[in-house]
Formats: sequence, structure tokens, C-alpha cells
Amino acid sequence: MKQDMSGEIFHRLTVVADGGGARVLCACQCGGRVDVLRSNLRRGNTRSCGCLHRERAAERAAVRNLRHGMTNTRIWGIWDGVVDRTSRPGTCHYADYGARGICLHPEWLIFENFYRDVGAPPSDLHSIDRIDNNRGYEPGNVRWATAAEQARNRRSNRFVMIAGKRMCLAEAARVVGISKSTASRLLQRGEWAEVFGGVPDESVGEIDG
Ligand SMILES: [Zn+2]
Repeated sequence: MKQDMSGEIFHRLTVVADGGGARVLCACQCGGRVDVLRSNLRRGNTRSCGCLHRERAAERAAVRNLRHGMTNTRIWGIWDGVVDRTSRPGTCHYADYGARGICLHPEWLIFENFYRDVGAPPSDLHSIDRIDNNRGYEPGNVRWATAAEQARNRRSNRFVMIAGKRMCLAEAARVVGISKSTASRLLQRGEWAEVFGGVPDESVGEIDG
């Protein structure tokens, strides 16, 4: 003889009618009614009329929407631009020399990682700027800067010519296999052209966007 479960509560369900069979009628906290297996109630397999599952599914969908919802934000557009710039052939200026094959840190191919590390721009006037133009978009080498700040950063870079190609000093040093300080010394003494040819070029560098 089965014990009458009437009035017993299992999570969101309260047994309202127990006819002694395999199934009992339950009222759910949400107001729903459901016929469930007595054994599933006892084991904790059935805990609601189904509303619990629906709520969990809605929560998961909300989390996904939160992620996808960022596609309309400026930060997402900036990230998309960075991915585009670094994946177009020839856009990685140091890739030409085989120094490094990538300009975008692999983790940053996933927007969430980029957002986690870089955060949102402080204002609409700020765009993404690489601190060291010889390095790529990678943790520790990007910051938010205004156009004026970026121009200042570029002017502080010195450019030289190597085999007809214009590049900044650090990059040139790597290409010819000398240290940056040696390259800097050669340039200061006016010996760069003598050693490597070409004419030092002090003009402003390219714009990142
Ligand atoms: Zn329910």
C-alpha cells in the first residue's frame, strides 16, 4: 500500500490529489497543474510543471542576447575593423619581413576576449591606438587615444629608409639585425645613411584608424 502523498511539497510542486496510482496531480508555484510520476517526485527528477526549465532556457537566451547585443556598439565596430585590417593581406606592415606572421593576438579574434582586455573607449573621440607601432594588436600594446594623442605618438617615431622601404627605426633595426639602441646611435650621429643607405625620413607615420 503506497503512502498518500497529498499535501507533500517537492520543490515547486505540491501534491493536490493522490489516487494511489503511479501518477499524482500536483499544483505548481507558478499556478500550473501537472500530472507527474510519484517516483520522479521522490527522486527529485520532477521539480516543477516545466516552468523551471523554461526559465533556465530564457536565462541562457538572455546571456546569448547580451553577447550578440554588442554588435551594435562602437567597441564592436572597432574590434571588427581591427580584425579586418589585420586579416587583409599586406596590411600587417611587419608581416612583409617575416618577423611575425600575425598582427592580432589570437585570443582577440574572439570579441569577448578583446572587450575583456581593452574595455570600452572612454569617449566617442577615442579610437584604438597601438602604443608600439612595431607590435601588433596585443595585450599591453593598445590604448584608447584621441586623434591628437595618436598624432603625437606617431611624431615621436623616427623613420628611416631600408632598401627603398620606409619604416620606423625599431622595425628597421630588427630587419637589419641590430639593436634599437645601436640604430638610434647611428641615426643620431648621422651615420645611418652611410651604413644602410637611404635618407632618414622624419615625416608622420600611417594612420591606424
Ligand atoms: Zn510551474
